[in-house]
Amino acid sequence: MPAFNNTNIELIPDFPYDLGDPNSLLFQTDQTILTTNLNLQEIVPNQKERGCDSRGCGHFGAPRGGVDGAHQGFDIIATPGTKIYSPIDGVVERFPIPYPDDPNYSGIEIRNGNVKIKIFYASATVQIGQNLKTGDPIAIAQDISAKYDGITQHVHIEVYVNDIVIDPEPHFTRKFKRNNAQLFLGLGFGLIVVAVGIKEFL
Ligand SMILES: [Zn+2]
Repeated sequence: MPAFNNTNIELIPDFPYDLGDPNSLLFQTDQTILTTNLNLQEIVPNQKERGCDSRGCGHFGAPRGGVDGAHQGFDIIATPGTKIYSPIDGVVERFPIPYPDDPNYSGIEIRNGNVKIKIFYASATVQIGQNLKTGDPIAIAQDISAKYDGITQHVHIEVYVNDIVIDPEPHFTRKFKRNNAQLFLGLGFGLIVVAVGIKEFL
C-alpha cells in the first residue's frame, strides 16, 4: 500500500470514501489517515486559527491534560454570536456535548460517508437529519472564555475519517493567515537575497 504525505496533495471533493478498497484514494500510515480528496471550507469567514494563549495552543496535537494528553481538534477564532458554516456537504447526525457536566456548551456533528465532523462550543441552528450543503449556516459560537478565563474565543473542530481523528488544518481550502504571512516573509527575504546578489554583479 503506497504511503503519501498528505500536505501537498491536490484535493478533490469525492464522497464517500472507502478505506477497504485498495484503489481508494485513502490510505492509512502510522496512525494517520491520509486523504487525497477531503476538502474543508472555512467555517467562519476569513477564519483564523486560535494559535497560542495563556491557556494553551489550538493546533491539532497540542499538549492537553487528561487521558489522551493531546488536542484532538483544531481551534478557530470565533467571538460569541458568530455564525458558523458547514465545512462539507453532509447530514446533521447529532448534537454532541463537550462536557457532560456543563450544559452551557454544545456541539454539532455532521457526516458524509466515512467523514465525520464535530464542532464544539457552538449551538446548532439546524435540525438532526437535516441535509447540508457546504457553506450553509449551522450554528452560533458560544462564549468559551466564560469557562476558561483568558482563553481566545474560539470554536473547536474535529475531523474523523473512518472514526480515526485527523488534523483538519491541511484540508481547509483557504489556508490560514499565518501561512500567508510566512509566505510573504519568505518571498520578501528571497527578493532581498536576489537584490543583494544583483548588486554584487554591478
Ligand atoms: Zn480545541
